[in-house]
Amino acid sequence: MRITGVRVVLHERVSAGLAVFGVRDGRLPMGVLRVFTDEGIEGNNFLSYPGPGPAVIAQQIADFVKPVLVGADPLDIGAHWRRMAGLGHFISPITMGAVDVALWDIAGKAAGMPVHRLLGTCRDRIPVYFSSGHHKTAREYADEAVYWREQGWRGYKLHPPRAPWLAAAPPPVTFDIEACAAVRSAAGDGMALMLDPSWSYDYPQALRVGQAIQDLGYLWYEDPLAAHDIHGYQRLKQHLHIPILATEVTPGGLEALPPWIIARATDFLRGDVVIKGGITGLMKIAHLAEAFGMNCEVHDAYNAMSNVASLHVIMAIGNCDWFEALAFNRSGDHSLEHLSYGLAEPFRVDDEGNLHAPTGPGLGAGIDWALINSSVSGEVS
Ligand SMILES: [Mg+2]
Repeated sequence: MRITGVRVVLHERVSAGLAVFGVRDGRLPMGVLRVFTDEGIEGNNFLSYPGPGPAVIAQQIADFVKPVLVGADPLDIGAHWRRMAGLGHFISPITMGAVDVALWDIAGKAAGMPVHRLLGTCRDRIPVYFSSGHHKTAREYADEAVYWREQGWRGYKLHPPRAPWLAAAPPPVTFDIEACAAVRSAAGDGMALMLDPSWSYDYPQALRVGQAIQDLGYLWYEDPLAAHDIHGYQRLKQHLHIPILATEVTPGGLEALPPWIIARATDFLRGDVVIKGGITGLMKIAHLAEAFGMNCEVHDAYNAMSNVASLHVIMAIGNCDWFEALAFNRSGDHSLEHLSYGLAEPFRVDDEGNLHAPTGPGLGAGIDWALINSSVSGEVS
């Protein structure tokens, strides 16, 4: 089998509840990557933010990746991955990840099997936690956690309103502690709870909030300090017993992670298929974690099809306990549209809060072309 063409359909997502970072005038730029072969098999993935955005990613694919892919065997995924890794001064890691996922889609379709089967299936379902948007009151977080508990979901994570991209000034850290306490008291002891302040605390704040949430029985404490602050994390871990989860946006992928393990600066590794090198890159990170007896807690993958790709990885590794459902919802909105947008089949969690392994060949994720074609803004090939 040979790759015959690579094309990106740029389009704009328009949705009533759109609260994702990067929206302009109610529209979010996106892309559908299409990799064609001489056997009629097509591999796909969705392009979205973060990073330079779909139009730039599409141009990088056309200028730097397509010339090395056309005429090549799409199943040489490891070789293509290494070659793209060597283009790091020309392309974004996001470009590399996007293409890698589409090649795995081809491989699964060619084999007539879901991608997780090719990776080595470990299980057929994973519990999902709801990952909050940014809310203004402790009550809004508590009500949201209770809503998802009532749907059978067993985990909830708070994002306090202090992410670096928010325009409003952050509240004092006492707000975060109050919100965490309100969620615990409303959701009860049976729900797994996590806190992610998005790299925003200084060391004294991180210690204070960490002590509070470990007393509240939180499951993990995610990214309290700046993403690069390995020594701060190392120090924090010496003073807290709640597990700390860092490395979500550590630049550099696999090779950036050994220092975090050696320094005992995090209890888990973290990654996603978007910024850490696709399915191939995330599998490497999960195996690195496994060698050290650590979990690799897989991060939200920014768009619906990339989240399906993450799900295949999760089914093929034993060292991840949760799937993150980050719907970017405003307070009171319980739609999961963000996790379904552009797919033929909606994101579906069972009554016990589990997401099931895809069963179709490849990613097993059909595209809602009628929806995408209604907002096409251009094509890059
Ligand atoms: Mg996070």
